[in-house]
Parts: sequence; structure tokens; C-alpha cells
Amino acid sequence: MHARRLTTALAAAAVVLSPTFVAAGPAGAGQPEGRTAQHRAPDTALMTRDVPQVDPPAPLARPAAGRTTSERAARRPLFAFWGSKYNRIDGFAFSTALRGSGTSVQVEAAWKTYRGVRPILPRKVFVQARVDGGKWRRLSGTKGKIGKQHVVARAPAHVVPAGVVAQTVDYRLKTKKIKKGPRRARRSVASKPVTVTFDNQAMYTGDQARFYAPIAQLCPNANIHIDTTGITGDRTGVFSWQNGITIDAATFATRVDEPEISKLGTSIHECAHMKQFYNWGGTREGLPAMEARSAAVFVADDDPAGPTVPMAPDWVPLEHAADCAKELISPERYRTYGGYCNPAEYAAAGLLWQNQQY
Ligand SMILES: [Zn+2]
Repeated sequence: MHARRLTTALAAAAVVLSPTFVAAGPAGAGQPEGRTAQHRAPDTALMTRDVPQVDPPAPLARPAAGRTTSERAARRPLFAFWGSKYNRIDGFAFSTALRGSGTSVQVEAAWKTYRGVRPILPRKVFVQARVDGGKWRRLSGTKGKIGKQHVVARAPAHVVPAGVVAQTVDYRLKTKKIKKGPRRARRSVASKPVTVTFDNQAMYTGDQARFYAPIAQLCPNANIHIDTTGITGDRTGVFSWQNGITIDAATFATRVDEPEISKLGTSIHECAHMKQFYNWGGTREGLPAMEARSAAVFVADDDPAGPTVPMAPDWVPLEHAADCAKELISPERYRTYGGYCNPAEYAAAGLLWQNQQY
């Protein structure tokens, strides 16, 4: 870690981030933690391994001997895709997702061949998209990389047009026609699609607008999904790889004594998780490094100046990082995993808001 980089980032973070929000804290914001203070963890802890990997069968799929005619065998494509079960979005084994306008997704489909140990591969795979069930169109500049099991391609960021509430975009991988091999087997093939619904944040109303407002500058491409799925007890939010930021507005509605700034703080905490994800590449691949860096920087220590909020049972470094990032924006500690943000941690958390890794 470079001290100067961190100091600079922290200073920059203080300038960039909504000063009105910090100033608007309720009585008690920033005060030493008393024994009577109520503390709740803000969210359902971020799990970096909570989506099971679904590995496709080997690309080489030999038909069972004697069960197919040579005619059928001859028509089998040289290169094909396994079904949607093996599709991935951003490296995770699901084929639908919610995202905010302005984000891009990585699309993956598992491939197979019937043609021996040295398959004839397409020279090019690109991405096609269709918006709201319209016509499939090739996304220019996209190129799939044929890996050991999957073809991987990054779609360009999707921006929902002004005035449109949301769009559902299907993506699929499409191969260029193969020009080698048996003539009848030469063709272009397309994968089963993955489906991403993009919210237009400018069109948010109600609770979506309420919880997006404090992060509009910090995470402008975030989506706010209002739901309770996967959120239990006093927890009020979650950042998930599939649905982005989810806020449990129903539980918040029952917390009449909780200051609004604490409720909005959950959004900021989730926005910090979004930065952890996207600053490390926005795919599953980056998560182990993010987790390791979190563990190296964010430690379980006590405030040398006074009492420290006890750490929640599921306190982990990457949650502490999100708490410290949130405290840079809004210092109240009504909802926290506990512990203490030391200067090095604040500096590292500030890097998140600069779209940098710590
Ligand atoms: Zn969290």
C-alpha cells in the first residue's frame, strides 16, 4: 500500500462526496458510542462464494456408438453451445440479472463439439443483443474468447434511453460460419440467451428514488431493487451478483424510530460493495483478490480513543471496508458491523470511491 496514494485519495474523497449529506446527520452522528446505543448490522453479509459453480460437460461430446445414423452425424455442427443451464453472467451461474443503466455485463456460454480431439473452432464469435424482444443485432466491437469450457465476451455498457423506465436485453453469442470441415456441418450457431433488465435510474420514483438519491453521485450506474428476498432479521439490504443493490423497504417502514440518515446509509454501504465488485473487474474472477486485499487492509482493532462498537458475529474485513467507506460519506454508526475504522482503513475505503482498488 502506498501511503501517499491513500492520503491523496482520502482527501479527494472528502471533496467529491456530498458534503450536504454529512452535514445533515442527526443528533448523535459522529458522537462517541455510548453503551445505550442500538446497533444493527446494515445488511446481509456479502458472500463471495454464494453462487454455486455449474460446470458444463467436457466440450468434446461423442455421440453414443450405434445410436445415430451417419447422416445425422454428418449434420452435427462442428461447434455448438450447451444449454442455458451453463450460461453465465459476470462469471456467475445464472442467466437472468438486474442491473442499472450504464453497466456492462460479461456473457459466457459453454461450448461443445462432436468432432474429435482437435475441434474445428469458429474464427470469430461475437455478441448479439435484442432489446425488449426486438430484432437480434450484432454488437460491434465485441469478440468472444474461446476458453477451455466457455466462450467469454464482454458486452458494451447498456444505456437505457431517456424517458424509458427499464429495458430487458437478451444477449447471446453467435459464431461466424465455419468454412472448413464437412460441408453439411458448416454453419453459424448461436448460444441460448441470457437476459438482463436495466433500470433507468432517472425514472426512479418512490423507495427506488429515495434509496438511489444518496448514491446517485457515488454509484451512478447502480440499480435499486426493492425486495425482501435473501434479507433476514434486522438486516435491511444486500448487494447480490444477480440483482445488484436490494433494499428491504418493508423492514425499514417498521423502524419508525430509526433516523432516515441511517436507513439511507444502507444504500451507501451497498454502493461500497458494488465498488468492491466493479473496481476488481466486475466479474467473479476478481473476488478472491478483493477478499484477500480486504483481509490485508481491514483489521479487527479497537478505537484507541474510547469504547468500540462490538463486532457482529459475521464481521469480516470486506464488510468492515464497506462500513468504513460508508462512514466517509455519512459518519453515523447506527447500522454497523462494529469495530473501528483506523486512518489507514479510511484511506483505503476512500480509494473505493475513486474507482480504485485498495
Ligand atoms: Zn455489507
